[in-house]
Amino acid sequence: MSMNENGRKSQDQKTFKNKKNTNREEQREKSRRKFAGTCRMCGSVLSYISGTNVMVCKNPSCKGIVKKRRNGDEETVTEVLPVFRCLDEKGMEIASNLFAEAE
Ligand SMILES: [Zn+2]
Repeated sequence: MSMNENGRKSQDQKTFKNKKNTNREEQREKSRRKFAGTCRMCGSVLSYISGTNVMVCKNPSCKGIVKKRRNGDEETVTEVLPVFRCLDEKGMEIASNLFAEAE
């Protein structure tokens, strides 16, 4: 067993580890997309707001949900709500893990 052989072995392991980390990051990204779902108005992947139970569409050009309601007899009030989704406790736990490094 020579020094060279040992040196090469640790180099290979290092390369392998980096590759594995990249794959894991890709996997995380896929998991995020799958978990977050997409905005029903513009199709962007929803973002998690850390510390909350809310996933929201952060696309600046997203029109959001337009809601009209009658205010009294004649006036119609138009409200624009951002597209968001609330998470339950379990969902929050998953989101805080999945999106821990996203911000
Ligand atoms: Zn949107």
